[in-house]
Amino acid sequence: MEQQKQLILQQIKNAQLHSTLSADSVQLIAVTKQLSLDQTKEVVAAGLLHLGENRPEGILTKQHELEEEVVWHYIGSLQTRKVKDVIEHIDYLHSLDRISLAQEIQKRASRPLKCFIQVNVSGEQSKHGLSPIDIPSFLNELKPFHMVQPIGFMTMAPLEATDEEIRTYFKTLRELRDRMLEDGSAPPECKELSMGMSGDFTLAVEEGATFVRIGTALVGSIRE
Ligand SMILES: *Cc1c(COP(=O)(O)O)cnc(C)c1O
Repeated sequence: MEQQKQLILQQIKNAQLHSTLSADSVQLIAVTKQLSLDQTKEVVAAGLLHLGENRPEGILTKQHELEEEVVWHYIGSLQTRKVKDVIEHIDYLHSLDRISLAQEIQKRASRPLKCFIQVNVSGEQSKHGLSPIDIPSFLNELKPFHMVQPIGFMTMAPLEATDEEIRTYFKTLRELRDRMLEDGSAPPECKELSMGMSGDFTLAVEEGATFVRIGTALVGSIRE
């Protein structure tokens, strides 16, 4: 585990050095959604304390059993009726994609929740997320919801895209963020970019990712 961790951190660093558009600091999230509790303990023992999960049960069980102070990232699409189950147990939501979800967070939260707005940059039908064109009005609609703290934007590239296409999607998200900050559509703290997974995180870092969500390439070997 330690070895994979060092390898990924090195690849992130290389990508940072390689590009002037990269962020000064990139937070690695270890996606443990497919790991058992014991396997997740190995990840935490290697000092990876930002974990990504996509099911409420995964977070609740693991959180209950782990002794370390883990930062929990909810990375999958979240059903409105599940908000109450996870809201007190997560630090970041990477999949805010509709007002009804913001409404439910507002209703259930006891403290502001850091949220990434999920953007469907590629326009692929199967992808969750808002169209870039709808982001300014969405940000505006979020304003009354004080428990929803927009801290940035998240996207996923389609699986079958080429490297060049993937880079374009990540670049589009970065430019969207820059535009939203510049024209005041987004508050100043809405500046993070959650993009990049096992297959494309070096491209994402080169294009300015501040959070990368890595499963297979980081923790895949302990699943075998
Ligand atoms: C599973 C998942 C990841 C990690 O995927 P890998 O390809 O295994 O690195 C990242 N982000 C989201 C939203 C996911 O569902």
